[in-house]
This record gives sequence, structure tokens and C-alpha cells, in this order.
Amino acid sequence: MPLKITNVLTRKKETFKPLNAGKVNIYVCGPTVYDYPHIGHAKTYIGFDMVVRYLRYLGYDVLYVQNITDVGHLVGDADEGEDKIQRKARQDSVSPMQIVEMYTRVYFENMDTLSVMRPDISPRASGHIPEQIEMIETLIAKGHAYEVNGSVYFDVTTDPDYGKLSGRKVEEQEEGTRIEVLAEKRNPADFALWKAADPNHLLRWNSPWSVGYPGWHIECSAMSSKYLGKTFDIHGGGRDNIFPHNEGEIAQSECAHDAPWPTIGC
Ligand SMILES: [Zn+2]
Repeated sequence: MPLKITNVLTRKKETFKPLNAGKVNIYVCGPTVYDYPHIGHAKTYIGFDMVVRYLRYLGYDVLYVQNITDVGHLVGDADEGEDKIQRKARQDSVSPMQIVEMYTRVYFENMDTLSVMRPDISPRASGHIPEQIEMIETLIAKGHAYEVNGSVYFDVTTDPDYGKLSGRKVEEQEEGTRIEVLAEKRNPADFALWKAADPNHLLRWNSPWSVGYPGWHIECSAMSSKYLGKTFDIHGGGRDNIFPHNEGEIAQSECAHDAPWPTIGC
């Protein structure tokens, strides 16, 4: 029996068809490793474990990539505030990478306990800074992003499809969200691709724009295209990631690659 999976983009349960016969490439947004996993993580990763297992049972050659977010995910999920990992490191008086290491191990141990298979590749965001910078440069060159004060933002008005996944309109985002309106943004709904680091920010890298750190969403666009290509079969994640994270991923990837983003399964 073929796999039927809910496509969040079309809001329908669809029969899965691979892009290439016999092969399935799948990317699922992984955890931000700043604390113990919760029941929502278990729900998401057990769900996609079933999808991967069933596709393998059907005979597909499945390549399963699930990232580890260890930089760029700020408190509040938007563009302002402290990095979640840095905040935990400050609270526990340890270095951010100790937090990353500890909670990455805890995450995998918890998933092992639940008999969730480990992904084939678990790329870390902090290990893919050059790829993220390269993608941001592409978006700037194509007119989809702009630099201001050392930070780079995605200009949502250059993507007529922005909002198609979550169903939110740009005007609604301007009013009803917790996003802090930064004066330096051209549009309130624009989101960060790169942020200039303030003096207290420990996780920082050189870039063409500033010493800073990548935005939360760009890591998944950069790592999924690196390991699975410009388009692939299934992209998944927890429902709480649909906005702003997955919406940002689609916009960045489709604008940078001129290729359609895959089915979003949940
Ligand atoms: Zn992601």
C-alpha cells in the first residue's frame, strides 16, 4: 500500500510519489539542543520514524537527514533576544558548546529509548556556517535580501508566495505576532538571515557583513540543499515550526534555488 501523508502546503492527505524511482530524500527539522526533549519532540520524531520505516519497508532507498540546531534560535523564535543555547549556558555557568554536547546526547539517548531510528546524517548548524553565508550571498545577489548595520534580512515583499505554508498574510504578521519591529528592517515581517553580534554574544563568526551569527531558518535551507539537493521529496518538522521557521525555509530555498520546495509532511 503506498504511503499517504498530509501535505501542509495543500492541507490535504496525498499519496506519496518520489521524485526519482526507488529513492526518497527526506529532511526533518531537528531539535534546538538547549534543554531536555519534551513530549512534542517525541510526537514529531516518532511520526517521521514511522514514515521512514514504512518507506524502507516499501523498498525505497531512503536518505534521512535531521539537523541539530546549535546556534541562531533566539528566545521568542523571532529576530530579537538571547540565543536559547547561550542563555542556558549563562544560567548553568558553562560554555555554550557544553550545553550543545550534553543535550544532543540526551536527545539521542531519549530517542533510542523510544526506538526511534537515528537519522543517516545529523548535521549541526554551527558546522555549516560557510554554506549559510554562501546562500545568503546568493539571496542578496538575487535581490531577495539586504544588509543593514551588519545584519542581513530577507525581504518578504520580493517573494509573492511568502505566507503560503502558514496561510498568514504579511499584513497579519505585522499586527498579530510577537515579532519585535526593528527599525532597521524595510518591512516588519522581514526576517534575519544574519545578525551582527553584540559584545555579549559568544557564538560568533566572521562574515562579509559583520562578526555575527546566522538566523534560525537559513541553517535548514543550507544543510538540506547540501545533502539532498535543491529540491527533494519530503520536508518535515513539528507543527509549531510551521511559522516562522518552515515559512522562512521555503521562502529562502525557493528564492535562492528557483526550485520548488518539497512536500511538507506533518
Ligand atoms: Zn528547520
